[in-house]
Amino acid sequence: MSRLREHPHFRLNQLTGEWVLVSPHRAQRPWQGQVESVARRSEPQYDPECYLCPRNSRAGGARNPDYKETFVFTNDYSALYPLAPDQLSEENKSGLIVARSEPGICRVMCFSPRHDLTLSTMRIEEIRRVLDVWADQYSELGSLDWINHVQIFENRGSMMGASNPHPHCQIWANATIPNEPVKELRTQQEYHRRSQSCLLCDYLKLELQERERIVFENDAFVVVVPYWAVWPFEVIVISRAHVAKLPELGSQQRDGLAQTLKQITSGFDEVFQAPFPYSMGFHQSPTDKQEHPEWHLHAHFYPPLLRSATIRKFMVGYELLGTPQRDITPETAAQRLRDTLASART
Ligand SMILES: [Zn+2]
Ligand SMILES: [Zn+2]
Ligand SMILES: [Zn+2]
Repeated sequence: MSRLREHPHFRLNQLTGEWVLVSPHRAQRPWQGQVESVARRSEPQYDPECYLCPRNSRAGGARNPDYKETFVFTNDYSALYPLAPDQLSEENKSGLIVARSEPGICRVMCFSPRHDLTLSTMRIEEIRRVLDVWADQYSELGSLDWINHVQIFENRGSMMGASNPHPHCQIWANATIPNEPVKELRTQQEYHRRSQSCLLCDYLKLELQERERIVFENDAFVVVVPYWAVWPFEVIVISRAHVAKLPELGSQQRDGLAQTLKQITSGFDEVFQAPFPYSMGFHQSPTDKQEHPEWHLHAHFYPPLLRSATIRKFMVGYELLGTPQRDITPETAAQRLRDTLASART
């Protein structure tokens, strides 16, 4: 195993069934790519120009209330909207041109009235409130008979396309289970059928034994750089308990998740001494009104940074046309994140 890890090898992502190429020997090569300047703007507590700050008006004319904690509203530029019940579709004779309409609901959620905060700088009680609202939103949207999946996700940083620094996330709920969760549904169902146990419960047990890729843990959650990570500092946040969705978490588990999110996001900010961009999101069981004994609640963080606050990884070339590839190994990345979190705590 240790010799394999010094040479190019493929690793299998158990959740998607896809492979990633790991090339540890390339981590030493000189870099001659793009160097970006670091966005280190300090934000004001309130920005009169921000469409998410309390009391401000949004494009389209709506005015935000003077909210004190969190605030959820329907996206003024929703990617999906609820359609009339008769669905539209298109398919030509050869079956090569296929489309169908997709109903859905897109909401925006502000984490805080403060324009200058982020998950990494919010207090744990404030993060706890955010995840209580996430759980309620999932339950409310998921209970609609035509909503079969609810995706909660956050894009942080302009590098990830976040158009506004105000701390917020998006909630997209729709009729069809999207590509990534569908892959994870199939792999988890298949594992459950084959082994009569849960894929992520078993994987977590293994990581807790090996302890090579664990970044942070508390009584409720464990943060791991997955064995099959694609992005340099990608992590997966796994519930210790076998639960399928946020609403199933008890009060102590929710406090544990709030602490976990605070630790990992503030740890990320320490890695390159700069606000760490990422896309993150929770994968909860589909809301298709079926039983999902196979599904295990988790969150993914996909940060693009590679070697500094200015050097990012792009998914290009072989990655677009072949298979994703990484140089720094998941074990090295986990060590680095673990050390960073440990030194941040002392
Ligand atoms: Zn704002
Ligand atoms: Zn499980
Ligand atoms: Zn997932």
